Amino acid sequence: MTARIIDGKAIAADLRARVAEEVARVKRENGLTPGLAVVLVGNDPASEVYVRSKHTQTQAAGMASFEHKLPADVAQADLLTLIAKLNRDPAVHGILVQLPLPKHLHTETVINAIDPAKDVDGLHPANAGRLAGGFAALSPCTPLGCIILTKSVHSSLEGMNAIVIGRSNLVGRPLVQLLLNENATVTIAHSRSRDLPKLCAQADLVYAAVGKPEMVRGSWLKPGSTVIDVGINRIPTAEGKTKLVGDVAFQEALGVAGAITPVPGGVGQMTVACLLVNTLRAACAIHKLPAPGV
Ligand code: NDP
Repeated sequence: MTARIIDGKAIAADLRARVAEEVARVKRENGLTPGLAVVLVGNDPASEVYVRSKHTQTQAAGMASFEHKLPADVAQADLLTLIAKLNRDPAVHGILVQLPLPKHLHTETVINAIDPAKDVDGLHPANAGRLAGGFAALSPCTPLGCIILTKSVHSSLEGMNAIVIGRSNLVGRPLVQLLLNENATVTIAHSRSRDLPKLCAQADLVYAAVGKPEMVRGSWLKPGSTVIDVGINRIPTAEGKTKLVGDVAFQEALGVAGAITPVPGGVGQMTVACLLVNTLRAACAIHKLPAPGV
């Protein structure tokens, strides 16, 4: 048996195209151009790559993109002043502060300063709480992408056994809530969980969001299960270079799983596409327009 490889690249491209269509419609019918503001503090190379990609894809979808680069030693008060200004700016419907922030800044305070209506990363406690309560919320982009990828394989997740390995606020916890909303039966595992192989063996859906290269082995998986690999790990190769691998031993899993996302080319592609979805949704909600068709 060889698992079907879930093509995150193609699914993300399709989603971006649908967002662009809806953006064009909202512009035409309502004179509204959704706008996303991204705030980058410092010059971490990985963060700069992400921010550049967000900027390009936001513009390609027909939305306005505003970039704010602040020095690594920016005072927290100045960052909070910028966020307050973006909260008031009618051209801005989504605000994203690129994480991680330099150590001297208090991430929780910074996230709490974002207007929840513009919190397109879904990290504000108001959105996390609404999501946990089963109410309408802006949800974090990576978990949203994981659900879309899963639904490219299974039209309904109702009654399926899912395991989410990892309980971060960014990925694991919101993913659990989204799976519950889909009526899956969810186990959440973390660094203190006992016997992960046994827990995985019962799962129809496996989500690995750990940050440990190839930790989930093929032998742990239930035959035919769907595996969504969130992990992005850079490891050295025998040739002295580096390569990206996920949290799942991909080659092993191919022979057991029914469907699996590759790394790269899986979940990572969906994260920015879902950011565009959230920005469009936020813009429509702020302007009291019907929810968009994506
Ligand atoms: P965090 O470091 O915040 O969380 C990791 C989680 O994994 C924690 O809950 C931790 O448990 C758990 N964990 C650690 N070791 C083990 C173990 N041995 N067994 C079981 N669970 C373990 O990471 P993130 O959630 O931010 O990211 C996870 C991965 O996803 C990373 O590789 C990251 O690069 C990637 N990522 C990818 C994105 C994408 O767009 N594709 C976006 C965001 C992240 P505990 O809580 O007990 O410490």
